[in-house]
Amino acid sequence: MTEELLFFAWQVPDDGYRVIRSGGRSYLVSDPGLWSTIRPLDNGVLFREFANLPNDADAFVGFANQWGHLGVAENITIKRKSVPAEPLSAWTYYVGCLRRLVDMRDRVEDGHREFKFVRWPDKNHIVIRIEDEFGEDRLKIDVSEDAPARLKQFTYSDTYEPALYYLKLRTDKVLREHVSPRLMWSKGQLETRLVPDNLVGAIFYQFSRTVGRKMNHRACERCGKWFEYQRGTARYCSNTCRVYASQQRRGLT
Ligand SMILES: [Zn+2]
Repeated sequence: MTEELLFFAWQVPDDGYRVIRSGGRSYLVSDPGLWSTIRPLDNGVLFREFANLPNDADAFVGFANQWGHLGVAENITIKRKSVPAEPLSAWTYYVGCLRRLVDMRDRVEDGHREFKFVRWPDKNHIVIRIEDEFGEDRLKIDVSEDAPARLKQFTYSDTYEPALYYLKLRTDKVLREHVSPRLMWSKGQLETRLVPDNLVGAIFYQFSRTVGRKMNHRACERCGKWFEYQRGTARYCSNTCRVYASQQRRGLT
């Protein structure tokens, strides 16, 4: 975990979130009450848990009750009062976006060099189109003579570099909007640090730190929780799960 991430604290309402409908849209809201301060990035695989959420209101509420809202709430009017509410469409958007990026990063890490969703209609244009349960994402890239130098270097019919470019573009967009440099206290001195503005910035920043690095993440075979492992044989997230699974194998539970 990098040092700047350690500064990220976030708040979760003790009574949790609920979903309301307003103007034809669904929103996550919380009632007035006590809030607890948490440090979401103490969970080193939070981005994986987020990216693996199904496109489902209950799953979003469950995640929010544990880690807080994303930090992209709008003010809506309920019973003539203005209240902060986070559209569930934003959850669909960010989970879908990260799902695609994590999937791409994992495949690059596994040595994949071909990406079927990248097409070259002609020598000067690339079209990326991904369709999944979260919707559709399209990106057109101009690689003609007028394009920036980096893009002109793409080799005709190669799909690897355009896929990486997609990963960079989509990740950067979220980082630009939700992570900012700040002066922070460090041992009595002020130093610049990158600090997430909200949970979505924190999650995408955590993800961005894994791009281009060897990191071993796996879902626990017993409880399904993601964990980072050192040795190639690790199958369980914790001793508890390992012991439980071995007892189960021996018919003790
Ligand atoms: Zn487990």
